[in-house]
Amino acid sequence: GEEGYGKFVVETSSGETLRAAKGVLSVGAWANEVYGFEDLLKVERRVLHWFKPSDLELYRNLPVWIWQYETGSGKQGAALYGFPHQPGYSHAEGVKIARHGLGKDGSGGTKDNLFPESPNELDRDVEEGEIELMKSIVGPLLPTLAGESVATETCMYTMTPNEDFLVDLKPGGKVVYVSPCSGHGFKMVPCMGEIVADLAMNGRTEYDISFMGVEELRKWKGKGAK
Ligand SMILES: Cc1cc2nc3c(=O)[nH]c(=O)nc-3n(C[C@H](O)[C@H](O)[C@H](O)COP(=O)(O)OP(=O)(O)OC[C@H]3O[C@@H](n4cnc5c(N)ncnc54)[C@H](O)[C@@H]3O)c2cc1C
Repeated sequence: GEEGYGKFVVETSSGETLRAAKGVLSVGAWANEVYGFEDLLKVERRVLHWFKPSDLELYRNLPVWIWQYETGSGKQGAALYGFPHQPGYSHAEGVKIARHGLGKDGSGGTKDNLFPESPNELDRDVEEGEIELMKSIVGPLLPTLAGESVATETCMYTMTPNEDFLVDLKPGGKVVYVSPCSGHGFKMVPCMGEIVADLAMNGRTEYDISFMGVEELRKWKGKGAK
């Protein structure tokens, strides 16, 4: 929360009170609620799959990959991405694969709840039909991978109206908003960190962040994007 005298105050769940001149909020899928943005951002339910390939060794040296596939009917599907087999990581008896976009082929999933009203209402149960659908997509592309499903997990993308990022100063300059990044923010962390530090310390940055500002994103929203 914020208090008078321009102070930024955080009360932790363990009862500690932290005070600073400025603060950075980076709450991921909770941004609409915490930043008071109403429906500016859209939370998407995403499912991650781990399949057991017929030959695990074969997947040891696979690079990290992304594949914009076409469906049998020639429609553009969502992009699939995956990883090599990673011993020592979770679900190591399988190989991780997931879908980046929702696709125009209906492969976004069989669930009606792809867009939870609130991140607290995310449906974390994965239906058998979702696993079968993924298997049917993976099968023609990587036949040796479309075997037994060993695990699934659900997580959330926080989509901005232009499928880019959001980083901005709250009017008054005491709070930096950051985090929503439409599912591709992790690799930008070094640069985003620099931008956030610039904004927090100096109230400005040399980087062009105009397309990631709240007002700009509201314009996109107004044009009917997402
Ligand atoms: C399935 C999936 C695959 C992805 N793949 C890629 C990829 O290949 N490449 C890439 O670049 N990016 C990828 N991303 C996106 C990347 O994970 C995010 O861009 C990145 O995690 C955003 O980091 P963040 O710290 O801003 O937010 P988050 O990692 O979402 O962290 C926000 C944190 O804030 C906490 N929080 C929320 N509300 C409060 C509160 N009121 N008080 C205290 N804490 C709170 C949450 O619990 C959470 O821990 C992927 C995302 C998903 C879901």
